[in-house]
Amino acid sequence: MPAPIIKIDSISKSFGSFKVLDGLSMEVMPGEKLALIGPSGSGKTTILRILMTLELIDDGHIQIDGEQLYHVERNGQLLPADERHLTRMRQKIGMVFQLFNLFPHKCVLDNVTLAPMLTKGMPRAAAEKRAMELLDMVGMADKAKAMPAQLSGGQKQRVAIARALALSPKIMLFDEVTSALDPELVEEVLNVMRKLADETDMTMLLVTHEMGFAHDFADRILFFDRGRIVEEGKPDDIFRHPKQERTQTFLKKII
Ligand code: ADP
Repeated sequence: MPAPIIKIDSISKSFGSFKVLDGLSMEVMPGEKLALIGPSGSGKTTILRILMTLELIDDGHIQIDGEQLYHVERNGQLLPADERHLTRMRQKIGMVFQLFNLFPHKCVLDNVTLAPMLTKGMPRAAAEKRAMELLDMVGMADKAKAMPAQLSGGQKQRVAIARALALSPKIMLFDEVTSALDPELVEEVLNVMRKLADETDMTMLLVTHEMGFAHDFADRILFFDRGRIVEEGKPDDIFRHPKQERTQTFLKKII
């Protein structure tokens, strides 16, 4: 049995007096495709942001790829992680956000090459070669010189996926990546994610309201409510035979 690539152990997180996560634990196996579903405000996005070190935790431990995320082990002691450690750990993870987040004054190609050149010191020619492969994979190679403002939301999101892949992460996080898109643009983004799932062995965590997609895409569904995992299981079990009343109520409303 391989070790989990993500191990979240009793983490807690409050915003002011509001406790979003209260002793949450979960594990993700290498290559697993996981969908996090549940009502708005239940803490799903916060978990992704914590894994990406965009939010700190108040308590608990997180291990990624066998290493502590927020702590460094030195001489048998656990010390708070320094920036160097965090930068290295962040390179294991790529994230795509709800609202595109492309650099608006950089062309598509530069958006994808910037991080490998800056954080990994990759030479421009190598970064551009890799970026063109990734842009080809998401069907955006012909727009390499376009500016973000010239692109549709679906195209921007496909570039954002290529950009997140440019550092060759082991784990990809998708935070409601289609919820700001016009309905006719949703499918082109989902298709890219399907392709990634089929053609790579990356571990993928997805927060989504697209229940049909979650069903087809995920190996395992986690249903969240108020910062807790209320129910988890295979897509067919969760969607067809939810055991918990809260899951049943949520799915009745949404499907
Ligand atoms: P979900 O993704 O399940 O909709 P979130 O993780 O986005 O839930 O949010 C959980 C709760 O935490 C929400 O009530 C939200 O308003 C609150 N929250 C999230 N981020 C912040 C923040 N930076 N400051 C204050 N409250 C926040």
